[in-house]
Amino acid sequence: MLAMDYRGPYRVRVEEKKMPRIEHPRDAIVRVTRSCICGSDLHLYHGMVPDTRVGTTFGHEFCGIVEEVGDEVTNLKAGDHVLVPFNIACGQCHFCKQGLFGNCHESNPQATAVGGIFGYSHTAGGFQGGQAEYARVPYADFGATLIPDWMDPDDAVLLTDVVPTGYQAAEMGGIQKGDTVVIFGAGPVGLMAARSAWLFGAGRVIVFDHLEYRLEFARTFGPAEVYNFKEVDDVVVFMKKTTDGLGADVAIDAVGGDAAGNALQWLFGTKLKLEAGNAIALHWAINSVKKGGIVSIVGVYGPTGNIVPIGNVVNKGLTLRANQASVKRLLPRLIDHVKAGRINPKAMITHRIPLEDIADAYHMFSAKLDNCIKPVLIP
Ligand code: NAD
Ligand code: ZN
Repeated sequence: MLAMDYRGPYRVRVEEKKMPRIEHPRDAIVRVTRSCICGSDLHLYHGMVPDTRVGTTFGHEFCGIVEEVGDEVTNLKAGDHVLVPFNIACGQCHFCKQGLFGNCHESNPQATAVGGIFGYSHTAGGFQGGQAEYARVPYADFGATLIPDWMDPDDAVLLTDVVPTGYQAAEMGGIQKGDTVVIFGAGPVGLMAARSAWLFGAGRVIVFDHLEYRLEFARTFGPAEVYNFKEVDDVVVFMKKTTDGLGADVAIDAVGGDAAGNALQWLFGTKLKLEAGNAIALHWAINSVKKGGIVSIVGVYGPTGNIVPIGNVVNKGLTLRANQASVKRLLPRLIDHVKAGRINPKAMITHRIPLEDIADAYHMFSAKLDNCIKPVLIP
């Protein structure tokens, strides 16, 4: 079968690889029909995630058709259309029992933090991903979820990650009725956080980015008040001014950072490098939320992402909430929201690209060319 193959930072290609097989009775093999590239894949692509081995197939946002199931998978059969949450979760361990499916212990027992994730380095369990014609889905009886008949597969594939992640970002913000919510990042995750903030009762939603085409999209998709951070003299001062000197009630980091950028930012100060990969969004989130406010972090950080203004977190008595999204927990609610038209995930899909053109697709999404918001690979 054809599958994406990581060769090193900024180098990906398509290779002929061995077909995956059932390795455990709870496995299923899925023929992939849609597979997205995520902002999280870019951290791997940029080489910031430890133990990303050459030869790994990325891809944690996919849907498709069940080809074969293991003996213990009694709830699925060949021919079923399924979406596959990016978290590999057993559904039974200490953490899964609490609904923390992003922290499953069974799927990644070596790790102290994250559970297993498809195609996301050996730090996240060393699983092969779904940017391929076929994928092995461990714990398929728990994770793989039937796509309702009425649902467009373009919506379904976005329910594997960015929709629940944006939604959980808003949920972790503990948004109260009328709250002002500021969101850093207008990528698919930030966009979904903006949309979701309203569902939790926000009174005002503000989005910062520097890509005009994404801000323009956020203006109507959120909807949101949008600002280009490169055109605002000081984001923190601006946020104070626009909230009667208080700051936002809730701030969401939907940016994350790359290791090298974080270190640079620490060495040279926050004004140096105003782009992704420097934890500036997290500084802004912490500093522009009001005292007693909540900062919700879903942006992914590399090993040096610990460089945050922790003193201000303490002195301001902030609550920081963060996690990998718990996709399976949120799916029933999100499927309802899609059905009722309260969220329209597929509006974010800007590109459909044959799997064979993977190198171009990664380059485009990384460099944010051609007004790209969400690219979907079609095997
Ligand atoms: P993306 O690359 O499409 O979007 C990131 C956006 O942030 C870009 O539009 C960029 O211009 C903007 N940006 C960069 N620096 C900024 C700053 N200082 N302030 C405001 N905006 C800034 O990525 P995405 O797919 O939307 O993902 C966003 C983040 O969420 C990534 O770190 C990704 O790894 C993470 N993520 C986390 C989870 C989870 O479960 N926690 C799941 C999916 C993605
Ligand atoms: Zn993702």
